[in-house]
Amino acid sequence: MTALLEPYSGVEPDAAWRDEVRRLVDQRDAVLLAHNYQLPAIQDIADVTGDSLALSRIAAESDKSTIVFCGVHFMAETAKILSPDKTVLIPDARAGCSLADSITGADLRAWKAEHPGAVVVSYVNTTAEVKAETDICCTSSNAVDVVASIPEDREVLFCPDQFLGAHVKRITGRRNMHIWAGECHVHAGINGAELAERAAANPDADLFVHPECGCATSALYLAGEGIVPSDKVKILSTGDMVTQARSTRATSVLVATEVGMLHQLRKAAPEIDFQAVNDRASCKYMKMITPAALLRSLRLVKDEVHVDAQTAERARASVRRMIEVGKPGGGE
Ligand code: SF4
Repeated sequence: MTALLEPYSGVEPDAAWRDEVRRLVDQRDAVLLAHNYQLPAIQDIADVTGDSLALSRIAAESDKSTIVFCGVHFMAETAKILSPDKTVLIPDARAGCSLADSITGADLRAWKAEHPGAVVVSYVNTTAEVKAETDICCTSSNAVDVVASIPEDREVLFCPDQFLGAHVKRITGRRNMHIWAGECHVHAGINGAELAERAAANPDADLFVHPECGCATSALYLAGEGIVPSDKVKILSTGDMVTQARSTRATSVLVATEVGMLHQLRKAAPEIDFQAVNDRASCKYMKMITPAALLRSLRLVKDEVHVDAQTAERARASVRRMIEVGKPGGGE
C-alpha cells in the first residue's frame, strides 16, 4: 500500500477547479471530507475537515450516498466499516500509512498465538484486517482509559505505535502490557532534542504534542523536570488541538505533529503564532491527495474502497467498543 508512486498532478486549485469539484460533489450525491493533514486547498474545499474518527462518524451520519474521503487508506476503510451501505471513495488508493503498515493481520495473529488470553488493543491507524483481529480499538484520547478498563490480571497486546504505547504504559503503570515496535516515519522524525531546543528558545509558548510523536516522552520528561512548566505541555489528538487553540491564553504555540495541522490551527485562532517543532514533518501519503487526484476521483468515481463483509463485521465490533470506553476524541 505504501509503495510511493508519483501523485496525480497538473491541476491548479483555482476558482474553476473549485467550481467543478463542488458541482461534481453535488452530482454524485457526495459528502467531501478532509483530514487535518491534507493540503490546504483540499481542506478548504471540503464540507468538513477534522480528525479521522470525527470524519468517520460524520460519514456514517450523513444522508449522502457517497463519501469522498481525502485522507489515507485506513481512514477511508474505517469510514467504510462504519458505513457499509455507502460508496466510499479515496482520491488515490495508493495513499498508505507507514504506521498502519507496521503490523499486518498475519503479524497480529502470530503475536496473539504467543500470548494466549491476552487482550488486543489497537490504535485506529490500522488496516481493517488488523482491526478484525483486535478486541478494542483506541484513539490517542482514550488509549489510557481503554487499557485501564481491562482487568489487571489480563495481559495486554498494544499495537502498532510504540510511542503511544509507552505513553499509556507510563500513565497506567501496567506491567503486563506488551508494545508492538511500530512507528510513523513522520512523527518519529520529531525528536526530543529538537523539542527541547525549540521550547528553550520560546519559553512563553505552549507545546501541543501528538502522542505518536517521538518527542511525546521528552515533552512529559521536560515537564516533569520543571524545564517547561507542566501546564504548558498538552498531549492532544489533532481534533483536540483545534479545540485547545480556541481556548488557550498563550500567544504562541509550538506544534509537534504533521505540518498540515498548522492550517486548521491558524484558521481557528488567527491571533496566535503557531510554529511547527519540525517543519519537515510532512506526510507524503497525505499529500498524494492532490487537486488533480480529487478531480479524477469525482469524474471517474475512483478509487472505491471495499472491505469484505466478514472482516468489516469483526472490525466494526472493535471500533464500537472503542467508542464505548472513555472519551474517544478523534484519533490522528
Ligand atoms: S502522518 Fe504518519 S501516521 Fe499519519 S498517515 Fe502519515 S504515515 Fe500514517
